[in-house]
Amino acid sequence: MKPRALQLELTFGRSESEMLRLLRREGASRLEGVAFRRNRSTIWSLTQNGRVLNLHEGYRGAPLSVVRAFVAIANHGHRSSGRYREACRVVRSWPGIDHALGRLRAHSTSRRRPRPVPCQGTPQERIRVRALYRRLNGTRFEDRLPTDIPIRISRRMKTRLGHMAPEGTSRNPTVGEIALNRMLFRGGNEAALEETLLHEMAHVAAYLFDGDSGHGPAWKTWALRAGCGPTPCIAIPVRA
Ligand SMILES: [Zn+2]
Repeated sequence: MKPRALQLELTFGRSESEMLRLLRREGASRLEGVAFRRNRSTIWSLTQNGRVLNLHEGYRGAPLSVVRAFVAIANHGHRSSGRYREACRVVRSWPGIDHALGRLRAHSTSRRRPRPVPCQGTPQERIRVRALYRRLNGTRFEDRLPTDIPIRISRRMKTRLGHMAPEGTSRNPTVGEIALNRMLFRGGNEAALEETLLHEMAHVAAYLFDGDSGHGPAWKTWALRAGCGPTPCIAIPVRA
């Protein structure tokens, strides 16, 4: 089988003014403002006669292809045009936004429903991931993360490599689980497994110590401290 390019994106969020500058540079000349929102259902909207673009905060780290689709949306705000419909499809189908929305959903429902999905890794894979977690906790997080966070290996993840499920309350935050795509355990994916686990461990730290469950400044600080690269997006090819 040929290696399939599943991408792990370590997204370091843009500010609203950075996003506005980028959109204008790419041709959205009518835009005068960008506002990031944390809405559960509306992922974007144009207001004030097409001059302000409201974006779900999941788009802070969107790649250039998605940013350009928003340029098309801002410039062709006529629902009948093919360019506009194609741009809508592009921004809706970007996996990063599902990641962000999924995290919000997990956050709102996790206290009521325990996760019924069992771990699908082999005993060896479970031992290996626990050892990796222990080592990274010591070398990258000064052993500050809990040692007993459930780590689940999933066969069913399609577009994502991993996630962290925040639970509890803002006063008493806990972590339900870290889940990892089973594809990461295949030969040749060792670096991607470590990078993905670090990404999720940075989510654990940002949530437990700073109450932040997204890819905001707290996550970014922990990710940088743990040794994730300084570039905004790291694409890691994963062997399928
Ligand atoms: Zn993440």
